[in-house]
Amino acid sequence: MLMVWIDQDLCTGDGICQEIAPDVFVARDDGLWVVKEEASHFGSTVVFDGGDGAGHGPDGGRGVARIPDSLIDSSVEAAEECPGECIMIEPYDQATIDARGG
Ligand code: SF4
Repeated sequence: MLMVWIDQDLCTGDGICQEIAPDVFVARDDGLWVVKEEASHFGSTVVFDGGDGAGHGPDGGRGVARIPDSLIDSSVEAAEECPGECIMIEPYDQATIDARGG
């Protein structure tokens, strides 16, 4: 398992990440992209878009999504192809996951 987040300040909004890994990356309604944890991998879907309530989590550097092993290759490819160089993939860290809140 790895973790991923997007620095929305650098996102160009082209959507390449979602084309490559649609279970990890999703468009927000302001035209920037965010990360998510899909129900098919985690039991329920959480979108790290800064929204309120169930199914939402913080965005930016606090909006860290877990990447299941089956999606690591496509997530890394998305990060490599990202023109904004704003997809941050990190080693799994439970303390970071616990700090997400929500
Ligand atoms: S590939 Fe990078 S720049 Fe493009 S939408 Fe995704 S996060 Fe934003």
